[in-house]
Amino acid sequence: MPSIALTIQAAPAAACTPELAKQPWSFDTVPGYGPGSSMGDVIPAGAPRQGGLPAEYQRATTEELHERIRAAKAALGDRVVILGHFYQRDEIVQHADFLGDSFQLANAAQTVPNAETIVFCGVHFMAETADILAQQHQRVILPNLAAGCSMADMADSDSVEECWEQLEALYGTEPDAEGRAPIIPVTYMNSSAALKAFCGRHGGIVCTSSNAETVLEWAFERGQRVLFFPDQHLGRNTAKKMGVPLERMPMWNPRGPLGGNTAEQLLDARVVLWHGFCSVHKRFTVEQVERARAEHPGVRVIVHPECPMAVVDAADEAGSTDYIRRAVAAATEPTTFAIGTEVNMVNRLAAEFPQHEIFCLDPVVCPCSTMYRIHPGYLAWVLEGLVNGETHNVIEVPDAVAADARVALERMLASRPAGSVPAPAAPHGA
Ligand code: SF4
Repeated sequence: MPSIALTIQAAPAAACTPELAKQPWSFDTVPGYGPGSSMGDVIPAGAPRQGGLPAEYQRATTEELHERIRAAKAALGDRVVILGHFYQRDEIVQHADFLGDSFQLANAAQTVPNAETIVFCGVHFMAETADILAQQHQRVILPNLAAGCSMADMADSDSVEECWEQLEALYGTEPDAEGRAPIIPVTYMNSSAALKAFCGRHGGIVCTSSNAETVLEWAFERGQRVLFFPDQHLGRNTAKKMGVPLERMPMWNPRGPLGGNTAEQLLDARVVLWHGFCSVHKRFTVEQVERARAEHPGVRVIVHPECPMAVVDAADEAGSTDYIRRAVAAATEPTTFAIGTEVNMVNRLAAEFPQHEIFCLDPVVCPCSTMYRIHPGYLAWVLEGLVNGETHNVIEVPDAVAADARVALERMLASRPAGSVPAPAAPHGA
């Protein structure tokens, strides 16, 4: 088997396995396990399936794959651009033209009009977003169709539509005396194109972890309350920071009538939170923060706002992947950082900024199992396919869905936070 420089450092917990990093194709074809899944998640009905990766790519050594990727990229030139999310493994990041979080990459996809093909090394909803924002002549490829997002799958269209019907029945549809709608839908970028389109149709907007506060301000100017999905933690952490009391943030569980709430709770709500979470970030705990402080006096703890509220409260700072990266880069004195986000990014920061001590808060390191589905074997396969005139794994959002989703995305892009620009691709192995 190819030898791959794994960034997993410790024995896997129930939700992750080093085998997935080495041979994602052996998982991609197993019935009952598919896209959008951490190891324990149920596969959503109708989710796309990845076909078998040709054996030559499975058998190739890591160095062979890198050579083939470099050669295919050189042959394709400006016709192709590779976007890489911060959570991708180093073996992928080294080939990316742009590296960033979902917000930055949504913008980066718009800045490469000459590229006919955008190869998105991230997860399914990101490729959908790139397709929605891409120009007419551009197509978007996701190297492995099984790279979904378990959080995004926690809010499906039917459940959100049903929730909306119940809320409209309760709140009505008429604006108040100040012209504010009864409720505005806000979806995190980590959601399907169908839900972004839902927001576009209902006066709503998309947000990322970089701009959630700006977007909520936008929504509160236009609505009496907000329905926030799918990530309860980003919604709760952001609204709490803005002064919304916890008792005015009921959670909507799609399995019960009124989401498991009373009508009074919902009438008093400022933010209705969807019952979704990230299986990577929910692993971080207050105990980990306390242990980091005990073992590393003076440590600076920064976590992602997808972490539970108690963890965000216990940390020194919380912010998006871009925020975390900029905070580390801006530290002028050698500093110890304990970071609460996906381990590939933490390890890359540690390599890039050796003057600091940087470690992941979670001692049982668990990468995002869906991001890990993008293996160099898949990247080589799609790039060599393009060289040979074959196009694999195109992500195409239907025109009607794309048009509505674009409305919600453009509202978000208009609320761009200061200082957020695509990062140049990291140098090899950084
Ligand atoms: S880290 Fe969490 S939110 Fe991000 S892609 Fe993975 S499962 Fe989805």
